[in-house]
Amino acid sequence: MKKVLIIGAGLAGCYLAARLQNDCEVTIITKGERAESDSMLAQGGIAAALDPGDSPRQHAQDTLAAGQYHNSIAAVEQLVTAGPELLAQLIRQGMQFDHDEQGQLDFGLEGAHSYHRILHADGDQTGAALTSFVQQQLNNVTWLTQTNVLQLVVEHHRCRGVLVRKTGQATTTIINGDAVILATGGLGNLYPYTTNDDTVTGDGFALAMRAKVALADMAYVQFHPTLLMIDHQCYGLITEAIRGAGARLVDENNQRIMATVPHHDLAPRDVVARQLTKWQAAGHQLFLDISDVPNFEQHFIGVTANLDHHHIPFRETNRIPVQPGAHFMMGGLRADLNGQTSLPGLFAIGEVACNGVHGANRLASNSLLDCLVSAAKAGETITQTTPLTATNLTTTDALTSEQSRPMAVNLPSLAELQQQAWANIGIVRQPAKLQAFINWLAQYHLAELVPAQLTDAQLTIVNLGLCAELIAKAALAEPQNLGANYLVKES
Ligand SMILES: Cc1cc2nc3c(=O)[nH]c(=O)nc-3n(C[C@H](O)[C@H](O)[C@H](O)COP(=O)(O)OP(=O)(O)OC[C@H]3O[C@@H](n4cnc5c(N)ncnc54)[C@H](O)[C@@H]3O)c2cc1C
Repeated sequence: MKKVLIIGAGLAGCYLAARLQNDCEVTIITKGERAESDSMLAQGGIAAALDPGDSPRQHAQDTLAAGQYHNSIAAVEQLVTAGPELLAQLIRQGMQFDHDEQGQLDFGLEGAHSYHRILHADGDQTGAALTSFVQQQLNNVTWLTQTNVLQLVVEHHRCRGVLVRKTGQATTTIINGDAVILATGGLGNLYPYTTNDDTVTGDGFALAMRAKVALADMAYVQFHPTLLMIDHQCYGLITEAIRGAGARLVDENNQRIMATVPHHDLAPRDVVARQLTKWQAAGHQLFLDISDVPNFEQHFIGVTANLDHHHIPFRETNRIPVQPGAHFMMGGLRADLNGQTSLPGLFAIGEVACNGVHGANRLASNSLLDCLVSAAKAGETITQTTPLTATNLTTTDALTSEQSRPMAVNLPSLAELQQQAWANIGIVRQPAKLQAFINWLAQYHLAELVPAQLTDAQLTIVNLGLCAELIAKAALAEPQNLGANYLVKES
């Protein structure tokens, strides 16, 4: 049986595991616990043309327009046509999405969608409902939790396995496999304001960079317009579905911030995030006015709980204090429609992959769908075409088992790196600042540091620093402003 190593316990990794568990020997390796992933945090929902009045063609058009036509048309076609069938399958298996009073699937609306096509579950807890549903189907996989993948093992130009280390421990072990699948998510924690889970720290991009695997579109980081903001700290996402249900962005004087912008509060995320940044730079505060949202507390149970937890008096004021923050990575390991990367034996699925589906700006609620589609396609390829190689390499899992030796290294603190990233590779960028940032990073010689010789905390800083370098260089190299990569000349 083929040995398959899946790195990451989010929707992409778990859905692939569910599809392969009866045909392959599947191990899921994940840094935290099973519930730690961005997938578990997804609020708004999952987009699919399942309503009879909607069509994959219309969904594709919206995806391309939001992505500024930088998307791969073939990847978009695959998403909008394969996605609805996979979702219908999950529904047949028992996945419960929310229904309206007539008993029909209740489709929500989000920014840049021309049709109500967002399925949601438990109100605003879609990601947790869907990912848990998929995880419950896993009955024939080996779980390695609290296990950090430090490096890809490459032999004869083929990925043969991964080097891992248990959280907080010093011993490293090599685990070999016939196929290695990166499903490690994005890099939101590079920035001080983010929606991302603490374990999502750009590791997949850094693993790829060290192994010289091709990356693409690294300039395109999506900043979500509305994170809950209290005393300059962010406390989770305020889903865009609330704007879809009628909320408006306003300042402290109740002036509508998006009034003059095409599509107003439901413009694509890059447009809204830039408008908010402009408003903030002019000294204004940012709020989401929920006066016109019917049954807010019933529909947005998770957001309500978060607001109550932080004592936000939204029932009296009808306002939620917000701030844009890092949310999603459009770029990643260059992958074909089957998730195959430039390195044989290595696949990339979900957010860490760049198959071109999102273009320069992801359409809201398309990424959970991409997790399903990219995992399903990779699964077919792995069962059909991946050769058996692991057994040739060794008959046991552990090839080597070494004590790593932590060393003293000169690194910025995580907070310092995050502040630098926010200032230089954030929502609005400047060429001179990008260059200065690249120079600042160069003093740390990040690419020369050996993962096994770093502590977990050091490795996080190094991996995020490598991601920062990739983003800054890619941003400078892009020939024009497009979607989420927006450069202005120095003022
Ligand atoms: C708050 C929030 C709300 C969102 N809402 C929506 C939404 O409504 N609709 C939508 O479509 N998208 C939404 N998104 C985006 C979407 O959730 C993600 O893009 C998607 O879930 C990514 O899934 P994934 O499986 O690729 O990665 P993730 O779900 O992020 O999982 C990555 C996994 O890899 C593990 N990992 C990382 N590095 C290592 C390592 N070195 N070794 C071992 N394991 C590692 C992590 O611990 C984690 O388990 C939202 C994102 C956030 C953060």
